[in-house]
Amino acid sequence: MNTMTNSITAYRKHRKFFATDALTQFINASENLVVLTGAGCSAHSGIPTYRDSRGHWQRSDPIYHQEFISKPSSRQRYWARSVIGWPNVANAVPNAAHYALAAIENVGKIGLLVTQNIDSLHQRAGHKNVVDLHGRLDRVVCLGCGAASSRHALQERLLIANPQLPKSGDFAPDGDADIQIDVTTIDVPSCTECEGILKPDVVFFGDNVKPKIVQSIYQSLSNSDGLLVVGSSLKVYSGFRFCKKAAELGKPIVCVNPGVTRGDSLYKLKVKADCVKVFSNLIEPLELK
Ligand SMILES: [Zn+2]
Repeated sequence: MNTMTNSITAYRKHRKFFATDALTQFINASENLVVLTGAGCSAHSGIPTYRDSRGHWQRSDPIYHQEFISKPSSRQRYWARSVIGWPNVANAVPNAAHYALAAIENVGKIGLLVTQNIDSLHQRAGHKNVVDLHGRLDRVVCLGCGAASSRHALQERLLIANPQLPKSGDFAPDGDADIQIDVTTIDVPSCTECEGILKPDVVFFGDNVKPKIVQSIYQSLSNSDGLLVVGSSLKVYSGFRFCKKAAELGKPIVCVNPGVTRGDSLYKLKVKADCVKVFSNLIEPLELK
């Protein structure tokens, strides 16, 4: 390595160090943060993401809401893939970022955590006040009678009804998996109460988050002393709107994400690094007592 490369490496190390220091100060000085998390937060728990660090789409098209509602074959395809993909989400364990955020909430510095993830890992790490912006994969709703049920129970029913399903596949985001099977052979269970169509309790692409949820998050933002974005490229407007709102309200916005994000011009501080690495080193300097 020549001298120039050495200096650049040293400069980068220092820059990262200063950014992490500033993040520690920001959190220590806060009393009521809103946190917005994305796929980067769950990637270290083995849950695949849709986008690479440059924000580029890595996957084939996901399922769309209208398609799921209107086409029985789409539901057969969805559930066939989900039978293989769901255990990866169900068995995932929270990582250092989830635990650190729960600890920061525990000392009263986080008023609300909004996650775009559907894996419930924040709750499993002990985080209490969580809004699952895009729903939760561990719950199922009936489109006929509205009854809520457990995804675990549906997994049993799907497995019993479809012994022809393969045992494994390549995991994809959102509890999906790439598998080779003729989906027309799939028997999709219906609601045990009314025989209505069952849907995972998540917001698919092409569907919207309920306006009252958005409004209540706007309210929390206006009462907060800043927004902390963790592990999200904010490519999806559903999450980006909170960044825009915080900027409109004049709240400081801090982001921890290794790649480019849609809110890059709005931040007071950006820690350009992996959130799990950052939060693993943050607990000690933080005043969590
Ligand atoms: Zn029903």
